[in-house]
Amino acid sequence: MVPIYTGPSVIQGTGCYAGRDIRKGELIGEYTGERISEDEADKRYEEIEHTYLFQLDDGQVIDAMHDPNPVKYINHSCDPNCEAFEEDGKILIYAMRDITEGEELHYDYSLVADDDDTGLDCSCGAKHCRGTMLGER
Ligand SMILES: [Zn+2]
Repeated sequence: MVPIYTGPSVIQGTGCYAGRDIRKGELIGEYTGERISEDEADKRYEEIEHTYLFQLDDGQVIDAMHDPNPVKYINHSCDPNCEAFEEDGKILIYAMRDITEGEELHYDYSLVADDDDTGLDCSCGAKHCRGTMLGER
């Protein structure tokens, strides 16, 4: 795993930064947290706009709210330098290109919206920003 650290982000709130140069394809970290059901996640965060949730293929959700791992602070970008993959029920973050020490890390959240989702507008500043963190249809 690669050393990463958090700091203020130009994209949103707190961001996550490379602690050293990272080569394309390197494993950066794992998105860790408590595994809960989607219903439980809805119950916990109904009233909260900013959450640290990652949906798994089996419908479970990783809740990183109280997890100290800085990976949860990696922001969304429409022109990302990282990619998130699910492998054996784990969410692993890989560099999708070479990254320089001190660069902010981001991946494309490509979220799937519920009917009532709000606050998913994107302001990543990428040239081809989609304007939303939702995935392309
Ligand atoms: Zn964007």
